[in-house]
Amino acid sequence: MGVVPGLLIALAAGSGRPVTVDGSTLTGAELLGAAAAVAHDLSALPRSSRVAVHATPTMETVVAVVGALLAGVTVVPVPPDSGAAELRHLLGDSAPSCWVGAAPGAPSGLPRVPADPAARASYSPVEISPADTAFVLYTSGTTGPPKGVVITHGAVAHDLDALADAWGWTSADVLAHGLPLFHVHGLVLGVLGPLRLGSGLVHTGRPTPEAYADAARAGATMFFGVPTVWSRLAESPASAAALRDARLLVSGSAALPVPVFRRIRELTGHEVVERYGMTESLITVATRADGRREAGWVGVPVTGIETRLRDDLGAPVPRDGESVGQLEVRGPTLFTGYLDRPDATAEAWTDDGWFRTGDVACIAADGRHRIVGRASVDLIKSGGYRIGAGEIESCLLGHPAVAECAVVGVADADLGQRIVAHVVLRSPATDETALAGELTSYVGAELSAHKRPREVRFTDALPRNEMGKVRKSQLA
Ligand code: ATP
Ligand code: MG
Repeated sequence: MGVVPGLLIALAAGSGRPVTVDGSTLTGAELLGAAAAVAHDLSALPRSSRVAVHATPTMETVVAVVGALLAGVTVVPVPPDSGAAELRHLLGDSAPSCWVGAAPGAPSGLPRVPADPAARASYSPVEISPADTAFVLYTSGTTGPPKGVVITHGAVAHDLDALADAWGWTSADVLAHGLPLFHVHGLVLGVLGPLRLGSGLVHTGRPTPEAYADAARAGATMFFGVPTVWSRLAESPASAAALRDARLLVSGSAALPVPVFRRIRELTGHEVVERYGMTESLITVATRADGRREAGWVGVPVTGIETRLRDDLGAPVPRDGESVGQLEVRGPTLFTGYLDRPDATAEAWTDDGWFRTGDVACIAADGRHRIVGRASVDLIKSGGYRIGAGEIESCLLGHPAVAECAVVGVADADLGQRIVAHVVLRSPATDETALAGELTSYVGAELSAHKRPREVRFTDALPRNEMGKVRKSQLA
C-alpha cells in the first residue's frame, strides 16, 4: 500500500516496517489495511465527531487510533485503568459518539464500532488538512483534573518531522518503548512517530528493564522512557548493558535526575537525550542527537519553535544560563485550545500570542534549556530565596540511602514556604531521626544552607501517576 492521499500521520506505514505491540506483529501495510477497515466503519460519522478508544497497550488500540485518524474523526484515548469517576469526567467532557475497538466495561449507552476486515476494499481515503483536529488528549492531571487538549493533524505532523530532524530518526530505526498509549509520549511520538517516519516499532507492553533488554537484543535502535523507566534500568545493570548497541536513548515527561543520567551512561555508554514538552504544545525543546548532551538540560527548541523567558511582571529574563523565568513558547506544534473551555484557553496565551507553559526554566546563551519545574509546585519561595525543588531532589538522590524523593514547599508562617523532603529509603533506617539530620546536612554541604530541607518525611512510596510523575499537589 502506498501513501494515502491527504493523510498527514500514517504516511509511511506502507513502507512495510513491522509494528509489534505486546507480542502481536503486523507489517505497516497490514496495519494500514486493518485501520482502513475501521475507517470504513466510521465513515458514516460526521467529521466533527469524537470517538473514544480504550487505550490498552495493544495492537487493537493502535489499529483503532490509526483507523479513526484515517476517517478524519477526532480520537479521544481513554486510560484503560480509569476509575468510574475519572471515566465520567473524561466521557462527560469529551462527549464521544462511540467507542472504537474493544472497550471492556464501557458504560452502556455508547455504541461500539467494530472493525470489519471485509470492508477494506470499499474504503476510500478522506482528505485531511493540517488544521483538522486529530486528538483530544487529556493532560496528566498533575496539578488538577486532566484538561482536554485539542490537537491538530498539522501540529502532530510538524512535531514528528522536527523530532526526526533533531534525532536523526529515520526508517533505519526501530523504536522500542512500553509507555501508555493515551498521552503525547507513548501515543503521538511512540506510535505515530514510527508510522509517519517509517521506522519499525516494538511496544513492549510494559516498560520493564527486562522488556527493554529483550527489545535491544532483537535489534531496537531507539528507546523512549519516562524517568522512572530509566531509573529502574539504572538499578538493573544486566538489562541496561543490553542497550549498549542502541543508537539513541530518550527521556521525557518529567525531569531525568542527574544521578540516573550518570548511571545509565556508566552502564550503557550512552548519554540519554532529554526533551521537554506538554500535551498543549507537543515536544518543543529537545537535545539533538548531534548536539551537546548534559545532565539536567533538555536541549534546544525544535524546528519552527520559539521560546522566551519572562519574569512575574512580564519583563524579559536574560539568556545567561542562570537567570530563571516563566517559559513561554510559540510555533506550529501548539494546541488550538482546551476543549469547551474558552476562558482557560484565553488565559493560557499572553496578549502578544505566546503560550504560557506554567514551567520555570533558564536558557543559556547558546539556546540550551534547563527546566527548573512547575511555577506552581517546583519553585519554592523560602526565606526570600527562590529554590528549585529539582536541584534538591537530584542532590538527595546522590546520597546512598535514598532510593526516591520529592521535595515540596509547605506554607510556613516564618519562611513563607519551608522545604520538605519526602524520601523513600533503599532499606529501612535504624534511626530515622539521625538519618533525617544526616540528609539535611548533606544537602547543606553539597548545595547551600538555605536549600536544606527543614523537614524530612520517610515514606514507603511516592504518589505517582501512570507516567511516573509525582503528584506533588498531594504532598504539599
Ligand atoms: P496537568 O496539566 O493536568 O497538571 P501535566 O502538566 O503533568 O498535568 P502533561 O501535559 O502530561 O501534563 O505534562 C507536561 C509537563 O511535564 C510540563 O509542563 C513539565 O512540567 C513536565 N515535563 C515534561 N518534560 C519534562 C522534562 N524533560 N523535564 C522536566 N519537566 C518536564
Ligand atoms: Mg500541565
